Amino acid sequence: MHYEDLAKAFSELQPGFSPQEAVTEASRCIKCEDAPCSKACPAGIDVSKFIRQIASRNFTGAIKVIKEDNILAGICARICPQSLLCEGQCSSSELAKPIKIGRLQRFAADQEMEKGPKPLRSLREKTIRVAVVGSGPAGLSAAAFLKRLGYDVDLFESESHPGGVLMYGIPAYRLPKEVVTQEVKYIQSLGVKIHEKHPIDNPVSLLEQYKAVFIGTGTSLPYKLGLPGEELSGIIQALDLLREVSMALIEQRDCDITLGDRVVVIGGGNAAMDSAVTARKLGAKKVTILYRRSENEMPAWEEEKKFALAQGISIQTLTGPVRFLGKEGQVSGLECVEMRLGEVDESGRNRPIPLTGSEFRIPCSAAILAIGQGPSIAPEGLERDPSGLVRVDEETLVTSVPGIYAGGDLIRGSDTAVQAVGDGKRAAFAIDTWIQSLPK
Ligand SMILES: Cc1cc2nc3c(=O)[nH]c(=O)nc-3n(C[C@H](O)[C@H](O)[C@H](O)COP(=O)(O)OP(=O)(O)OC[C@H]3O[C@@H](n4cnc5c(N)ncnc54)[C@H](O)[C@@H]3O)c2cc1C
Ligand code: SF4
Repeated sequence: MHYEDLAKAFSELQPGFSPQEAVTEASRCIKCEDAPCSKACPAGIDVSKFIRQIASRNFTGAIKVIKEDNILAGICARICPQSLLCEGQCSSSELAKPIKIGRLQRFAADQEMEKGPKPLRSLREKTIRVAVVGSGPAGLSAAAFLKRLGYDVDLFESESHPGGVLMYGIPAYRLPKEVVTQEVKYIQSLGVKIHEKHPIDNPVSLLEQYKAVFIGTGTSLPYKLGLPGEELSGIIQALDLLREVSMALIEQRDCDITLGDRVVVIGGGNAAMDSAVTARKLGAKKVTILYRRSENEMPAWEEEKKFALAQGISIQTLTGPVRFLGKEGQVSGLECVEMRLGEVDESGRNRPIPLTGSEFRIPCSAAILAIGQGPSIAPEGLERDPSGLVRVDEETLVTSVPGIYAGGDLIRGSDTAVQAVGDGKRAAFAIDTWIQSLPK
């Protein structure tokens, strides 16, 4: 697809508030005494305070309040699952409809970006060096808070652009790349040194040069199905598809991927929804998501599912792939089997059981695999759980090695950006407390 068409197809969908709309919405807040919205925000934003600032037209004050706790204000405003977090708690109050907290946060962040961001309060510079590995939301948040606490921060990123999944995974129609670039630039302006194309294979060895290390390398190694025919051309990992489209937008070039008219997506999470919508935007006429359990067990958020359905995508549940079919090395279809739900398994969901003799075929021009991913690095010397996630102390996020901290998807598995931001912030304060406690 040509760059111009791509940029149009992937332009941001949700419009922002005008100043008057923002003030009107903020004025609906009934100022609950216990502010359940703030308690539900994993980054710990003082939500009721910033809403009050907007209601009184103090937009600069509002963004200052937000950034005290969440340095990725404009990003999280766009992609947080608000109905499960801040707005979900707001709806339990006396209001008939929850305050649109995410859109108010976006308004405050966009206003600031338009006018040029203001510096944040930081402590006096120390000469102590700390390192951060990975520039996703966990690493960016840890680096920004450590810098504000006065440390000399080096952030190492293996890719050519910082941002992690924010830059390479989440499609631009939900999170424009410029918003990620602007917020990363702001963190750099605080004094964080970002070293791109600089993978760290053994983060523990950084302790030779740095007092403490935070690891936020996420989970970017996609799982495979292990089915016959998986090597056929036209079968693509969801993250590779999303990455190629993102790269084309960042580099302002044409996108090389051709998926054809009939695409199947295997999986039931947000990556499945995002890649299905992406396939539609790239021109696929029929896109079907195949999921082996029922809709109740689908991990994708309700809003994401609804949006995919509104784009004309169909979701076929209780369907398990058996093998890929091909013609001259190219995928041409999928043999599937109908499933029924059995007992609850170790994942806490009902186990899908194939119905013998129910095999059927679905023709396709491309198949997208979106069945989840695991950690891409196995940091040497750190305790990990059986799935490879790094084990940490729940409160301080310190790993089994003193001085090494970790957060984000690397310790939780696939989660949310705001949870990663919260981890980065928590670890930064824990690192500071630990360093201050060391003998001088
Ligand atoms: C398709 C998709 C859609 C999503 N949609 C949403 C959404 O709408 N809302 C939401 O809140 N969450 C969403 N998520 C989840 C969210 O993006 C993640 O929870 C979040 O990005 C995790 O942050 P992180 O910092 O832990 O890891 P990541 O964002 O994965 O960042 C890790 C970084 O570490 C770098 N790295 C890896 N190894 C090394 C190394 N050895 N040396 C140096 N750097 C390294 C990587 O290149 C990457 O930049 C989505 C995830 C996906 C995949
Ligand atoms: S960061 Fe996300 S969860 Fe927290 S208040 Fe903002 S929109 Fe809500």
